Amino acid sequence: MTGPHVPPSGDMPASLAARPRAARRGLPIPPVNVHPDPHGGTGTHVDFTTINTSTSSHLAAGRRCSLCGESMKYRVAFLGTPRAAELLRYTDPPGHPGCLRAALTLCPHIALARHRRARADRPGGGTVPPGAHGDKPDGWTLGITRSYRSMVLPAHGFTVYLPAPFRTVHAYVYGPDGRLHPATGTA
Ligand SMILES: [Zn+2]
Repeated sequence: MTGPHVPPSGDMPASLAARPRAARRGLPIPPVNVHPDPHGGTGTHVDFTTINTSTSSHLAAGRRCSLCGESMKYRVAFLGTPRAAELLRYTDPPGHPGCLRAALTLCPHIALARHRRARADRPGGGTVPPGAHGDKPDGWTLGITRSYRSMVLPAHGFTVYLPAPFRTVHAYVYGPDGRLHPATGTA
């Protein structure tokens, strides 16, 4: 656990720190990354590269955080590309502002510009909605608002989330060192 992108538990919300941890890297396992056993057994399978869309849809419908599973009370946050923030349209489910902020440093896919996820193996039938986790953007935007609508697209097998206009937007860009930093000059 010495990787620079694995901060101590004190840097993440208690609800996220309380999640079961992955054997590798010790990262908390979000409920949306738990998939049915790909071999049809009764167990579960953890895959950080895909979202269990039935779990994420269920959590979002109950206004619960996709990363820690706990209720989102006053504020909800969305993490995505600057384009998604512009359109107010997301394929990744919402979460607590604190949990998504933690994901900026915890999730290697987000934290490091050159990190590439293993793409070949996708057991569990998880889906990668277009634009969600496939192409790495130049930066990420964390938008915070009060409410959102969910739009299920059965034909595509996933849900689109439409947040109310953001009250606060935090922009992050990759620096020359390949790490994510808060963008300067943004509100
Ligand atoms: Zn949370």
